[in-house]
Amino acid sequence: MRQLIALTLLACASTAAELRVSTDFEGGSAKVEAIDQTAHVIRFMPDGDPQRGWPCWWYLRVDGVAKDERVTLSLAGSDRPSRNNGQNTSKPLAPSWAMPARATFSTDGKTWLHTPPGKRDEARILYEITGTGGPLWVAWGPPFTPRDTDTLLAEAEKKLPAAKSFELARTREGRPVRGLRVSEATIPKPPGIWIHARQHAWESGSCWVARGFTEWLVSDDADAKWLRAHAEVFVVPIMDVDNAATGNGGKEAAPRDHNRDWDDNPVYPEVAAAQQRLRALVKENRLAVFLDLHNPGPGDPTFFFVLESQLLKEPMITQCHRFVDFAYGRISKIKPLIPMSNKPKTTGASYHPLWRNMSASWVCMNGNPDTVSLCLETIWNYENSTTSGYGAVGRELGRATADFVRDKSAKPRE
Ligand SMILES: [Zn+2]
Repeated sequence: MRQLIALTLLACASTAAELRVSTDFEGGSAKVEAIDQTAHVIRFMPDGDPQRGWPCWWYLRVDGVAKDERVTLSLAGSDRPSRNNGQNTSKPLAPSWAMPARATFSTDGKTWLHTPPGKRDEARILYEITGTGGPLWVAWGPPFTPRDTDTLLAEAEKKLPAAKSFELARTREGRPVRGLRVSEATIPKPPGIWIHARQHAWESGSCWVARGFTEWLVSDDADAKWLRAHAEVFVVPIMDVDNAATGNGGKEAAPRDHNRDWDDNPVYPEVAAAQQRLRALVKENRLAVFLDLHNPGPGDPTFFFVLESQLLKEPMITQCHRFVDFAYGRISKIKPLIPMSNKPKTTGASYHPLWRNMSASWVCMNGNPDTVSLCLETIWNYENSTTSGYGAVGRELGRATADFVRDKSAKPRE
């Protein structure tokens, strides 16, 4: 009997020592190069299909890490040629896009934490995580998948009867793109606010900002109550559901980048559906604010807005700058610090040849004369670029939206 117990223990110990990687879940992506079972090192790279966007997103589950045992995730950039400016290139994407200073991990698949800063080793970066005895989920940044949209919308509806989920469209691959409408306005045709995130599927941080905004919007906060009593607000947490669900990068996907699809003949049904809803608000002269949430490049040190300088005319220009000032006033006071710039960057021909087909440009061209149309970039290489930091930005973005609408409604129309 004693021998049997000893054998069983031995079997358990050897099973526990066997590191295993899986990605067969929503948003999962990793191409495993090698697993060193002795040194506990997993060598891998992102597994996205470059035809479905920049292969910089990765998200894997690791089993077999014993409690208090350290595992090293040794990440390389994808070695597949990527696309850029709407064309195939013969070169892989710069690996820095796939290599946040700190990776994100979870022991329950829900609560996401930063690893310590990764160590660069020539072309690779090494992240170390200490096991708890159970599975570990490790990702480029905090994952947010269509299932998280479902949870967010269900919780918002439970919290506030005036919050109603809707299906914006079915994607090209048949998945639902879902959003939330919130309004307790009693006046007819209140100002319309439209916020969407994740036109680029790898940019998961933008979803957490949208989530923070949504949770604030349905909360008991006095400014949230004011906004929903005086506006009609729409939030779509994930636009490119197909690539977010399949763990692909989305940006620069074929046949079109999702955020270069905003013309008269969009390829993506969710872009066409968003255009239709935005046009309806414009027709009633009430599209007040349009926000497109993204993540910027690896070296960007602050949150910042992007505005469309070449298409903007007055009174749009003044309104955009007023919104940026309100947002800066709120977001720059977040503790712990979230670096925020009060100087918007601009897009135009020098940024991308298809700049006119970006959603914020399309809204500038098709909006009301005083519509605010902006992109907000969420930094990801900073110690407070966490789910709580992003949530705080979403909340303060909400308060800034209330500040803006309240200030505007107190003044006669320009
Ligand atoms: Zn983007």
